Amino acid sequence: MNSTTQRRIALISVHGDPAIEIGKEEAGGQNVYVRNVGEALGQLGWQVDMFTRKVSAKQETIVQHSENCRTIRLQAGSLEFVPRDDLFEYLPEFIDNFLKFQTENGFTYSLIHTNYWLSSWVGMELKKIQGSKQVHTYHSLGAVKYNTIEDIPLIANQRLTVEKEVLETAERIVATSPQEKEHMRELVSLEGNIDIIPCGTDIRQFGCIDRVAARAELGIASDAKLVLYVGRFDPRKGIETLVRAVAESKLGKNENLQLIIGGGSRPGQSDGIERDRIESIVKELGISDITTFPGRLTQEILPTYYAAADVSVVASHYEPFGLVAIEAMACSTPVVASDVGGLQYTVVPEETGLLAPPQDVPAFAAAIDRILGNPEWAEKLGKGGRKRVESKFSWDGVATQLSELYTELLQPTAKELVQSTAELVQSTAKLPVK
Ligand code: UDP
Repeated sequence: MNSTTQRRIALISVHGDPAIEIGKEEAGGQNVYVRNVGEALGQLGWQVDMFTRKVSAKQETIVQHSENCRTIRLQAGSLEFVPRDDLFEYLPEFIDNFLKFQTENGFTYSLIHTNYWLSSWVGMELKKIQGSKQVHTYHSLGAVKYNTIEDIPLIANQRLTVEKEVLETAERIVATSPQEKEHMRELVSLEGNIDIIPCGTDIRQFGCIDRVAARAELGIASDAKLVLYVGRFDPRKGIETLVRAVAESKLGKNENLQLIIGGGSRPGQSDGIERDRIESIVKELGISDITTFPGRLTQEILPTYYAAADVSVVASHYEPFGLVAIEAMACSTPVVASDVGGLQYTVVPEETGLLAPPQDVPAFAAAIDRILGNPEWAEKLGKGGRKRVESKFSWDGVATQLSELYTELLQPTAKELVQSTAELVQSTAKLPVK
């Protein structure tokens, strides 16, 4: 293996296109993760190719993000959006086109970092075909997710089988929080190698504006008590819990309470349906006049929204990591979050925000009121959050840890060394004696 192949890596994210707009139904944390990890690794000198599925003829096949980092879109099935639960049957074609790309470009990826269970299957197949080493990040565990929803999809069994196999066979699994690692051990398998490397955020971008400037830019009154939600419209996100908690808030409308619910949606699709459902609950609760739906917020404008808010709420039923919590904390905004999954790792109660049991409306209302009713303490929580993110969750730090892991995995193992020495001896023996 020469030094060029040693520093080349394929990040595979079949359904989460790292080059697409974030904040829509199927575009969320995973897209942000792959894109940021890819770019940061590129900065560290890796040649990073991020493979995803092409969903429209209009999309460019290759998007160059920076000198060393690009997104490559492969065809798998027809060129249209397919929900992730229906994608499995198209993966063999994805693999064929991946292999074709390698042949056309004259190299093979020795190391593949897969994201979400669909991509993990691609990685396991590539390991069988060409011996690539595999690192895998789940982003969501079927074994946990299926405990929190009522409609179990048809693909569930397949997913659970693949998730177990990859845990047991990948060179390394990256858990993004100690809680996720525990779930893997309790619910998936005791076999396999797991490292904990968290998700990150851009601490320069998130935290670049203060509250006064942010409110002036968004036209929000300085005396408003602003509660913020950012994320996809998905029932798992617990937006219903949040709106009901705001309606129960003791502060009430007299205190100029305001709620912003930011996130994209497409009419008629699952996110559009969830947004309609939330809007009708908001109407029913009589809080329409204090609630705003600004739609999808770009990553560029998001720091302004977080900074303007008094509290950012993540009321998810289940959250493997939850980037929104650390983005808000990076902007020095306290977080009220569900006491589940990665949120138990990122949010430190009484230090950076508060945790409440998922779906517990009175508990969320009380936590929101505690923060809104005590601005000095809220400021302290905000500062605590910023400090925590700086020390633990910057993309640069995350990419450095991943880079160290990849470098370690690319070192030949003792078995591989013995094998290559044997091959060398064999080929030398065949040389004609001078
Ligand atoms: N996001 C965004 N614009 C929006 C809504 C969300 O850019 O309008 C981003 C948000 O900043 C975060 C990601 O989408 O980076 C959501 O990630 P998270 O881990 O919180 O949730 P997931 O989508 O993975 O369930």
